[in-house]
Formats: sequence, structure tokens, C-alpha cells
Amino acid sequence: MSDTFKAILISRDEDKKQSVDVVDMTDADLMEGNVTVAVDATTVNYKDGLAISGRSPVVRRWPMIPGIDFAGTVLSSDDPAWHKGDAVVLNGWGVGETHYGAYAGHARVSGEWLVPLPDGLNAMDAMAVGTAGYTAMLCIMALERHGISPDRGPVLVTGAAGGVGSVAVSILSKLGYHVVASTGRTSEEAYLRGLGAAEVIDRSELSEPGRPMGKERWAAAVDAVGSHTLANALAMTAYGGAVAACGLAQGLDLPGSVAPFILRGVSLLGVDSVMAPKELRLEAWSRISEDLDAAKLAALSRTIGFDDIVGAATDIVDGNIRGRVVVGM
Ligand code: NDP
Repeated sequence: MSDTFKAILISRDEDKKQSVDVVDMTDADLMEGNVTVAVDATTVNYKDGLAISGRSPVVRRWPMIPGIDFAGTVLSSDDPAWHKGDAVVLNGWGVGETHYGAYAGHARVSGEWLVPLPDGLNAMDAMAVGTAGYTAMLCIMALERHGISPDRGPVLVTGAAGGVGSVAVSILSKLGYHVVASTGRTSEEAYLRGLGAAEVIDRSELSEPGRPMGKERWAAAVDAVGSHTLANALAMTAYGGAVAACGLAQGLDLPGSVAPFILRGVSLLGVDSVMAPKELRLEAWSRISEDLDAAKLAALSRTIGFDDIVGAATDIVDGNIRGRVVVGM
């Protein structure tokens, strides 16, 4: 009989009322997969907050163990690519949405979904980065593929004090960009400058309905916010520039015009981390280990325990988490 471990389980009753419980499980309770992993560390992303709070339909199979990412150690594997003792990282692939996720002592997944723990990072570091930070790197890689470089001009980061934003500010500044950080928490100006922001602006400059085009203020942007903020970011992007869009913290809508696209040749680059192909994941994690300072990663993250996950999930959707939260298991 295998060991018992704790798991967070979200369930729904006949009236679709959601409940969140901590339960005991064994490996026999896990879903199908060819690799079983001991979860060493996980994290609380915005999507985990939506899943646990029930504020958006993230969970699509009931009941569900939430948690979209983890770093762990392989316990057993029927996949020739992985062996007992291997250190691995998982981001997305529907884990925590349609497949039992990270908020449990063990996870059973497809070996195809795993990447090796990157050189120079331990499990806690990898989850301090987490899906939010890996997505920030995917956004920066998308801008680079578009030809953006530090000599082209400033880069805007929206939702800058959040998880995607904090990692994006840190990496962009290390790469030599002039970073304009947009935040609703101007009390976090010193924090953002510490991560490398050259300018900190109040998000109210971007979050209200704006004009189809404005003054050209930045060469590019990393946007985790959507809605009017994304429309205004596009409207103020310089000729030939690009905006990498990955989030919806303000809203799913995009209430703008085509003017920046057809009059300034601005490009909107969509970024998805969940189904991103393996080569892109490997490149992103390798770049993270090179281009994210350990001291900045420490400054932008804090550690909580398993019992604090549900509270942190509510805090993140209320916009009350600064940077990243790591969960030691
Ligand atoms: P966080 O909650 O850590 O950060 C979001 C930030 O957005 C907040 O900290 C806040 O920044 C800002 N914000 C929140 N509400 C509003 C609002 N109403 N108007 C304007 N700004 C607001 O979340 P994450 O960084 O983890 O995720 C950010 C977004 O990216 C989420 O929408 C998430 O779902 C998405 N995401 C998408 C992925 C993908 O694959 N495409 C992967 C990972 C995340 P501040 O306080 O500085 O203003």
C-alpha cells in the first residue's frame, strides 16, 4: 500500500456550488499518466486563484486537484525519458484544470509534459519563477523574435507588481532595456525600481478608455492585463513595435481600434504558456536560468506552506499579492 499524502480537492454539488477541502489520498487515487512525481514545490498563479475561488471557469473536470505547475522528483516512470530521482518541472498542459494538479504530495502525469529542472535552479527557485515567470520569458522571446532590442526604445510592462510583471521587469532590465513599469500600487515604486524599472507610471494612465492612437511612448510592451490597458498600450507603441499579450487581469475584452496596426505597423503577439511546444519551454527555462538574477528572484518572491494556499488564492485574484508566492511542500 502506497503512502498517504495531503491534497486540496475542489468539488461541486448538484447546484454547482463549489467547495474546497483538504483530503488524504494515495497513488491509487491519482489520474492516468506514465510518470509519478513527488511534488517538492509549487506556487499560486492567478489562474490557481480563479480555480480555487471559483471566479472563472478554470476547472473543467470535477472533482479536481488545482495547481497548474510544480517542481518535483520522479518516483516511478514508464516513460524511457525519465527515471526515478530525476528533478523535473511541469507548467500547464491542463494540469489543475482537466488533470489532477500540483496541490498534492504526489502527481501522476504524462512524461511528455515534463521538462528537466533547469541548471542552476532548485525546486523552490523554479516555482518562484513558476508559470507566471516562464510566461514573462515567453513574452520577451516573442518580442525578440519580432526584432525588438534595447536600442529600439523603452518597453512597457503592465501589471508590473504582479507575478508576470515582476519577472518581466527583472529580466528586461538585466537584458539592458529601459523598463516602464505600470502599476496600480504606486507604493511599490521602490520595489519595482529595485527590480530594474527605470520609470514607474500609475496604471490609471492606461486603464481607462483611450484614443485610437496616442503619443509613441514605447517600442514594445509585455501586457498581463488586457482590456483598455492593452488597447492603450497598443495605441502608444512606436512605429513598427510590438506588444506581447498574455493576460486578462483587467478583462478579457480588447476595446481598441485597428489604427496602431494599419497606421504604425504595430504587431500584437499572443502568448500562451499552457500548450506551448516543448522546444519553446526548454528555450524559455534555459533563458530564465541565464537572464534572471538570483537576487532579484529572491526579492520578488516569498515562501508559504501548503496550509496557506487557499488564502493566497483569494489574495491573488483580489490583486493583493506582490511578485510571486512559492509553496514549499
Ligand atoms: P498577478 O495577480 O500576480 O498579477 C496581475 C497584476 O495585474 C496585478 O498584480 C495588478 O498589478 C494588475 N491588475 C490586477 N487587476 C487589475 C485591473 N483591474 N486593472 C489593471 N491592472 C490590474 O497575476 P499573474 O502575474 O500570475 O498573471 C497575470 C495575468 O497573466 C493573469 O490574467 C493570468 O491569467 C495571465 N497568465 C497567462 C498565461 C498564459 O499562458 N497566457 C500564463 C500566466 C499568467 P499592479 O498591482 O502592479 O497594478
